[in-house]
Amino acid sequence: METAHLAELGVVAVAVTWVDNSGVTRVKSVPLAGLGTPVGASPVFDVFLLQDTIIDGRFVGGPVGDLRLHADPQRLTALAAQPGWAWAPADRHHQDGRPYALDQRLAAKRMVERLADAGLAAQAGFEIEWAVGRGGTDDFVPAATGPGYSHARQVELSDYCADVIRALGTQGVRVLQFHPEYATSQFEVSTAAEDPVAAADTAVLTRETIRAVTARHGLRASFSPKVTTTGVGNGGHLHLSLWRDGRNLFTRGDGPLGLTPEAAAFTAGVLEHLPALTAIGSPSVASYLRLVPSHWAAPFAAWGLENRETALRLVSGANANLEIKSFDLSANPYLVVAATIAAGLAGGSELPAPLDVDPAGLAGVPRLPSSLTEAADALEHDQALNDALGRELVATIVDVRRGEVALFADSTPEEVVAVTRWQH
Ligand code: GLU
Ligand code: MG
Repeated sequence: METAHLAELGVVAVAVTWVDNSGVTRVKSVPLAGLGTPVGASPVFDVFLLQDTIIDGRFVGGPVGDLRLHADPQRLTALAAQPGWAWAPADRHHQDGRPYALDQRLAAKRMVERLADAGLAAQAGFEIEWAVGRGGTDDFVPAATGPGYSHARQVELSDYCADVIRALGTQGVRVLQFHPEYATSQFEVSTAAEDPVAAADTAVLTRETIRAVTARHGLRASFSPKVTTTGVGNGGHLHLSLWRDGRNLFTRGDGPLGLTPEAAAFTAGVLEHLPALTAIGSPSVASYLRLVPSHWAAPFAAWGLENRETALRLVSGANANLEIKSFDLSANPYLVVAATIAAGLAGGSELPAPLDVDPAGLAGVPRLPSSLTEAADALEHDQALNDALGRELVATIVDVRRGEVALFADSTPEEVVAVTRWQH
C-alpha cells in the first residue's frame, strides 16, 4: 500500500516487526513519513527468552552492536483493528546494508531461493488457533462456553468473530475458513496458500490482528501451545506443497499415495529431520505439555493420508499438501518455513509406508522428542539443518531453547503454562 494512501486512511505510524527466536513478535515503530529510513535494533533480541530474560549466546549477546530493520514495502498494510497504525514486516541487515546472517526472515528467503535454484517453488499456509479469555486477568477465564465446533459458541461471540474475519479481509488476508475449535473457548482461522515467506508474514499479521480485535472487545487471546494444563492446546500447523512448472508435486504422481518422486523425497526429508524440526516448530517448554498422544497434536514421527495423529498428514485432493501438525504458535513462522524447506531439500532415506491408524496403538512408531532438551540436542546435531541455516543461527536457536529449559527447570506444569499463556 502506498504511503500517500495510508495517510489518507489516517495512518500516522508504522509498526515494523520481526519475530525473535523465542517466537515473540518484537516491534519498533516509525512515523509514516520515516518509513523509508531503516530502523535501528540491537542483535541482543536474538537471545531473548519468551519472558524477556536475556541470555549469553555462544555467538550473540551483550550490549554492543546495532542492526537495521528494513521494512518490506510490499507488505505495508493499514491495520483495521488499530486505527492510526500500519504494519510492515522487516528483514534485519547490518548498518552497511549487508544481510544479517542470523535474521530469520532472510533465512526463509534463502531457502525459497534454494528451491528456485532446483527449479522448484513452494506454497504454504499456517492454521492459527487461539483461545479467547476474559480481559483484566492473567488467569484463563473462558470468554465462551459453547461446545467445540458448535454454532452456539460462535453465537456467543458473534460480533467478535465477525470483526476478526472483517479485519483480516480488509487487510487483504485471504481467509479460507473460520471455526470454533475443540478446546474451551478456542477458535481457528486458516488462510490461503502463498509463497512461504509471504505465508510467514501473513501468520504474523493474522495473529496480531486477532490480538488487536480481541483487545478491542475487552478480551484476551492466548496463542500458547497449552492455555491450561488440561485439555487440548493451540496448534500452528504448517501446510506446504511443492511445485515444478506450475504443477503440484503432491498429487497425481506414481509414488505412494499419489506423490511424485520429488514430493516423496521431500516428505522423506521432512520426516527424517523431524526431531530437529521439533526444536523449531515446537520450541517452548509448554510445547511438550501439548505434544502428547490423543490430544490432536500429532506427536508421532510418521506420515499418513488424512491421519491426524501422525506429525505429517498428507492432505489429498486438488490442493494436495503436506500438513505438519506437530508445530505450534510459539514457533517463529520464518524459521518454520526455512527449516522445513531445508529439511525437505536435504531429503532422507526411503519414505516408510504411510500409516492409516492411530500410532498410539502401535509398537515401533517413533515419538517426536518428548522434551525441549531432546529436541534442542537433535537440532544442534542435525548437520543438514546447520549447513542450510548456518551454524551461528542454529547454535543461537539452541542457546535460546536451553535458556528456556533452564528458566523452567524447577517449575511445575501449572507454572510453565501460566508464564507462557500470554507471551506469544
Ligand atoms: N488444537 C489441536 C492442536 O493442538 C489441533 C486440532 C486440529 O485442528 O486438528 O494442534
Ligand atoms: Mg485446528
